[in-house]
Amino acid sequence: MAKIKIGILGSTGSVGQRYVNMLRDHPWFEVVALSASEASVGKKYRDAAKWVLDKEMPEEMAEMRIVKAIPHAIKAAGAEVVFSALPSEVARRTELEMAEEGLFVVADTSAHRMDPDVPLLIPEVNFEHLAAIEAQRKKRSGFIVTGPNCTTIGLAMTLKPIQTEFGLRRVLVSTMQALSGAGFFGVPSMAILDNLIPYIKNEEEKVASELLKILGSFRDGCFENASIKIGASCHRVCVLDGHTEAVFLETEKATSPDEVAKCMSDFSSEPQRLRLPSAPDHPIIVRNEPDRPQPRLDRLSGTPERAKGMATVVGRIRKESALDNGIKYVLLSHNTIRGAAGNAILIAECLKGKGII
Ligand code: NAP
Repeated sequence: MAKIKIGILGSTGSVGQRYVNMLRDHPWFEVVALSASEASVGKKYRDAAKWVLDKEMPEEMAEMRIVKAIPHAIKAAGAEVVFSALPSEVARRTELEMAEEGLFVVADTSAHRMDPDVPLLIPEVNFEHLAAIEAQRKKRSGFIVTGPNCTTIGLAMTLKPIQTEFGLRRVLVSTMQALSGAGFFGVPSMAILDNLIPYIKNEEEKVASELLKILGSFRDGCFENASIKIGASCHRVCVLDGHTEAVFLETEKATSPDEVAKCMSDFSSEPQRLRLPSAPDHPIIVRNEPDRPQPRLDRLSGTPERAKGMATVVGRIRKESALDNGIKYVLLSHNTIRGAAGNAILIAECLKGKGII
């Protein structure tokens, strides 16, 4: 089977490097174009990227030359699908230009997440929202599908089975977010060592608006938000990778911690049915130890090997007596794998698995 040819925008950054790492030896995809800013264009990837992952840079990509982030350059390399890890300021125009030139764009950026014809997708949670692509194809030859903010993904993943089984009225979340979530040059070491920063610009608003779209429905050509009350407080902590979140919620129907643990452990969806290469066997892993999940120990959870870092890990599921039908738990999700590149690769696998590309 011929592999689908891939371009990566923002390939030298925190998320871009994850793509390069995860797409080595991919059974369905082959990277043919690596792009970054003007300052990197023309350089070999090994010289342009300040590689920070513990696995060696794949040799075949190390020798590739960085191309411009314009449709002509990406198409000239033969790419059909483009993964976008651009800064949000440049993403809006560039992603649209790519889709208008017939490319299939899967974006980690916030630029088009809330557009009325763009799916905001976590394949296990709302794969049926892919139907929104139809409206885009009437306007342009390509299309855009987006993945959510890295903080929203683990939260939406764990809320989905609870919403289905017991209904959701209210969700409160307090986050402890990793440094890689701010990009390679995001937080100076002098600001974060021996410290935490109790503010991440626009993050709390994104968590609320994205969750409502993801947990809502797509009917008669329109997205309809879920009716859940959501409050978030977001914080940057001195952890390299892996966002931890303390979640407090009220269900419609009364439930118990054991029932919540069971519905999370049993949760499985379209990527698992389609046996997509990067789909974790269990999207949610529930741990019973009182002191888990922890970023260092649990962020690379997920089987098989290709799905390492794709599972959301949950622990400390208990009753919350300060809320009606209250439940609380702690979750951990790898922000640059499941929260960005891994989720986008799973979206592209879903598009192929469903015959859309
Ligand atoms: P980053 O580490 O700062 O990397 C940015 C990348 O974009 C680099 O490859 C950079 O190339 C390139 N770039 C910068 N300006 C450009 C321009 N004008 N034209 C073309 N390319 C340009 O950022 P990141 O953390 O990987 O985040 C990338 C995107 O993913 C952001 O929109 C972010 O919000 C989103 N996201 C991040 C995470 C996360 O956990 N980090 C999770 C979900 C979503 P040079 O090396 O040449 O400068």
